[in-house]
Amino acid sequence: MNKKDFRKHAHQLVDWMADYMENKGSYPVSPKVQPGDIYQQLPDNAPNLPESFEDIFQDFEKIILPGMTHWQHPAFFGYFPANNSEPSILAEMLMSTLGAQCMSWLTSPAATELEERVLEWLRDAKGLNVSWKGVIQDTASTATLCAILSARERASNFSINKGGFTGKEKYRVYSSSHVHSSVDKAMRIVGLGEENLVKVAVDKSFAMDPNALREAISTDLLSGFTPLCVVSALGTTSSTAIDPVKEIGEICDEFGLWHHIDAAYAGTALLLPECRWMMDDMVKADSYVFNPHKWMFTNFDCSVLYVKDVDQLVNTFSMTPEYLKTEQDEHVNNYRDWGVQLGRRFRALKLWFVIRSYGLEGIREKLRLHLFLSKKVANLVENHKNLEVLAPIPLNTICFRFVDKSLSQEQLNFLNAKWMQSVNATGKAFFTHTKLDGNYCIRWVIGQTDVSIKEIDRTWELLMEQLPELN
Ligand SMILES: *Cc1c(COP(=O)(O)O)cnc(C)c1O
Repeated sequence: MNKKDFRKHAHQLVDWMADYMENKGSYPVSPKVQPGDIYQQLPDNAPNLPESFEDIFQDFEKIILPGMTHWQHPAFFGYFPANNSEPSILAEMLMSTLGAQCMSWLTSPAATELEERVLEWLRDAKGLNVSWKGVIQDTASTATLCAILSARERASNFSINKGGFTGKEKYRVYSSSHVHSSVDKAMRIVGLGEENLVKVAVDKSFAMDPNALREAISTDLLSGFTPLCVVSALGTTSSTAIDPVKEIGEICDEFGLWHHIDAAYAGTALLLPECRWMMDDMVKADSYVFNPHKWMFTNFDCSVLYVKDVDQLVNTFSMTPEYLKTEQDEHVNNYRDWGVQLGRRFRALKLWFVIRSYGLEGIREKLRLHLFLSKKVANLVENHKNLEVLAPIPLNTICFRFVDKSLSQEQLNFLNAKWMQSVNATGKAFFTHTKLDGNYCIRWVIGQTDVSIKEIDRTWELLMEQLPELN
């Protein structure tokens, strides 16, 4: 593609993008396709000769777009959102145009220093401990992996990094039974083994019971295990239960354990003073992760890891072969040493654009709208005689189900799954589910950039339309 064509197509694409942003609510949220449908439309072999941009784009519209789930649709209520915004998209365009690889300060000084600054902004705006230092990772899974690896190296005095396991280590990590699967996965990767993730009981609100944690640690100590780390959840994935991070931090302090707080989704809410009850800056923690790529209008991917002791993190990951050495190494942050990846994208640019375009107050306004809409949904569900809410709603995730006292759990689970599938099949809204105490429930997560009362009302109607089918 020559420079002239690039300009032409770029303009066309920007128009397409602007149209998409205006009309994203008119697509079916999830596509009606079967496995293999897209694959079969793609040729067996890569083209040997150049194809025109028109042809490529035509196939994008004809083959790819109909196979997409529209995550930015205002009635996408599944999983947790991966919401984006106009300023974030514009920043991505610049990032890919500059094409910088931001592994060290020298490889793009502005990228490194902007990252340092915006993460300070966010730390302070969220009321986190002012001594914490941040680094952007691709995902919360990676950030948690980094935290547990650092905990392992702190406990072993870096001996496992050097010589590997001796076979005598019996490390244990603790979380609630509602922990995100990325923690189980990290246990495998860090070499501790997923069976050594002790899943502590939860209370009625599905938050970790600190007494049960203390007991689990004590029992393990008596049995010859070495407690290493506790991963608490500020907002579990099933129901956004808020673990008591202050008490957990104190227990970690008492036993000398690493405390990692997984606030992947709910961490964004700390921007609201009225949500600070979840966690204040007095909480004792060694690391904390939250995903601007979930609820902070920054398109995937962008996950922020804060740590109390940067040296611990850097000593765990730093690798400086001759070809990576630079003159400034002693005076700058080389973020390649703060995590798994060597090469790094310029993600700080997105955060900068988003924070400046909205202003913190603009972001807060959107979050407050989400919380308000969630209250409305909670009221609708609570006032319906055949529906019930199955978990407390500290933020904007409502776990609810159809209920009929004459039916068994199994029957109810079946009917609720059918209900959700029938709603999703309309393409007008999209939900995903979880199970709480064995009860299948639909999760209604209200965190879309452009969700409004209109989508809530329409989706409620849709749910009601599909509901009678059950009887
Ligand atoms: C979504 C989520 C994760 C995983 O996030 P990724 O960035 O996709 O790795 C981890 N923990 C919790 C609590 C989550 O909700």
